[in-house]
Amino acid sequence: MTDSFSPVIEFRSVTKSYGTTPVIRGIDLSVAQGEVVVVCGPSGSGKSTLIRLVNRLESLTSGDILIDGHSTASYRGAALQRLRTGIGFVFQQFNLYGHLTAAENIALAPRKVLGLSAEEALSRARELLKRVGLSDKEASYPSQLSGGQQQRVAIARALAMQPKILLFDEPTSALDPEMIGEVLTVIRQLAETGITMLVVTHEMGFAREIADRVIFIDGGVILEDAPPEQFFLATRHPRAQRFLRQLL
Ligand code: ADP
Ligand code: MG
Repeated sequence: MTDSFSPVIEFRSVTKSYGTTPVIRGIDLSVAQGEVVVVCGPSGSGKSTLIRLVNRLESLTSGDILIDGHSTASYRGAALQRLRTGIGFVFQQFNLYGHLTAAENIALAPRKVLGLSAEEALSRARELLKRVGLSDKEASYPSQLSGGQQQRVAIARALAMQPKILLFDEPTSALDPEMIGEVLTVIRQLAETGITMLVVTHEMGFAREIADRVIFIDGGVILEDAPPEQFFLATRHPRAQRFLRQLL
């Protein structure tokens, strides 16, 4: 059993400004072990910044983010590297290395960071490619793959470090409509494995299906934090209501 009393991720009064512009304006948020939290909100509301703060692709302006109960605000250098090792991040634009094959993209960090042998890393890569349905694409370069396939390789790459936490930033927004389903299927399977996930997405049908909680942010603050059935059927905040109407 997991310990429901100690959150895996805990935002405490987090703020973030770019220069003098506040973008995250005081966020408190706890995410429990195995929870899948969908983050939605209008463009520019701070969704990407919020999840990038978790693995410190952006620095905090004030407040703290606790991971497994440990304060990370003061992390620098090696501590920051360790933090990132335990957190997978999947970008909208895949961000694969173009000069590496699918298998090499996945094997790279396990070799460099975990010190696995080339053989061990390749075997891990193959296992993960199988899991995302791409066993036959091991030797393909990103340019030889469709967007949906590239994103599945990117998910496999994130999983290669066996992270406790997975962050997704609009993982299907750059995809042609016919490829969205294959990527959502992979994410849906992951959601069932008990890994803790923060998912920024505009796919509200998908959100409703996988989310344990939905968070609506606007102007850098959380306006709603509710179970999906409540969020989609009885949204209280007028701005969240307007947001949902626009997506229909
Ligand atoms: P969302 O993902 O919800 O669209 P973002 O977190 O990307 O929102 O951005 C929130 C706000 O912060 C926007 O106004 C955006 O223009 C601004 N912003 C994002 N990244 C930077 C940056 N690196 N420098 C300056 N402003 C930024
Ligand atoms: Mg964004």
